[in-house]
Amino acid sequence: MKKIYFDHAATTPVDKKVFEAMEPYFSKKYGNPSSIHTFGQETKAVIEDAREKVAEFLNCNPEEIIFTSGGTESDNLAIRGVAFGIQKRLRAKGLELRRIDNKAQSPRLRAQSLHIITSTIEHHAVLHTVEDLEKNFDFETTYLPVDQYGMVKPEDVRKAIKENTILVSVMYANNEVGTIQPISDITDVIAKSKEQRAKSKKQLPLIFHTDAVQATGYLDCDVKKLEVDLLSISAHKIYGPKGVGALYIKKGTPLLPIQTGGGHERKRRAGTENVPGIVGLGKAIELVTKNRVQESIKIKKLRDKLIKGVLEIPDVILTGHPKKRLPNSASFCVKFIEGESMLINLDMKGVACSTGSACTSGSLEPSHVLTAMGISPQTTQGSLRVTLGENNTEKEIDYFLKVLPEIVEKLREMSPIKED
Ligand code: PLP
Repeated sequence: MKKIYFDHAATTPVDKKVFEAMEPYFSKKYGNPSSIHTFGQETKAVIEDAREKVAEFLNCNPEEIIFTSGGTESDNLAIRGVAFGIQKRLRAKGLELRRIDNKAQSPRLRAQSLHIITSTIEHHAVLHTVEDLEKNFDFETTYLPVDQYGMVKPEDVRKAIKENTILVSVMYANNEVGTIQPISDITDVIAKSKEQRAKSKKQLPLIFHTDAVQATGYLDCDVKKLEVDLLSISAHKIYGPKGVGALYIKKGTPLLPIQTGGGHERKRRAGTENVPGIVGLGKAIELVTKNRVQESIKIKKLRDKLIKGVLEIPDVILTGHPKKRLPNSASFCVKFIEGESMLINLDMKGVACSTGSACTSGSLEPSHVLTAMGISPQTTQGSLRVTLGENNTEKEIDYFLKVLPEIVEKLREMSPIKED
């Protein structure tokens, strides 16, 4: 049976060109980039070459790029790094920084806690990091709501910003439903807040981070146009290897390293560099730079055909924004059945997709993204995510559109749930 891979938001295969670029750096050119001898110089040079490629793609200076172990670490470094970096600056000035929940405490102290804003539909790499800062480090937090399409309203960002807000983190495109966030509109709001702060001579920085892990392959990630301070990327979502990513850190952004050790990556991320991985990320980014626009047009056509076909099945809703969504992303809720049963049945027919609902201890945990979009827990159970990639064909879409209705019909016959 032919296998069809429709789960590119989970990960992508390593491109042949990427693999070839990486190969020599495992056992032929293995020098430690920190070593002074020629073995080390050779690998140091390729790391800097990869940094230039990433910087070119993001339209920034190579010095503003830090290599990490992937999207999760980039998000952690961005959020924890800024939170603790600003905390350190204030502490140096002798300011009290604890969050004061007790209303009886003096408002003067309460105003000095530090506030972080994020959205309810972030990847857990962001969401759990912000939650951790709230629970264990006394930061104050706001989780922005989203509309029915999973979109954050810039106006809600404006309303949420307070005089003690130091960081806003909103993802560029969502991994479950593909919705693209209005990043430039949000950064406009932030720029206005910064202007007001400057007028009132408030010196607290206001930093904006975006998780662009899913966006990198398809959207313009020019950091100057987007006006972001921090941007996270991950190689394995763009036909690069797993376990490597990067963080753009705008020059001057206060950031404390979260990993201590040697002085690697300009003292911002200790640890011997993953040379083959970084070379792979550089090559993958180079290919995105070359192919992004054309690839997006091609894949969108296939995706639109798939969406149209799936929506012909009764009682299926499209989740995420109908237009402002990643060109490779299609996501649905198929009513009256469970996503996991659908996945298993699709897998038996050779098709790999994913569902937003995670099975924990025997029960289906509704997806936090779909829940935030106002979809009922029962409907979220039947979520189905189809994310296409550059090797998918129209024939594969046709096959999927043949087998899916049969599976849905079979599962619905067996399902005890017959109505909303
Ligand atoms: N952010 C988003 C939006 C993602 O989709 C993912 C991975 O699925 C991550 C962060 C984490 O990236 P990584 O798997 O490289 O740690």
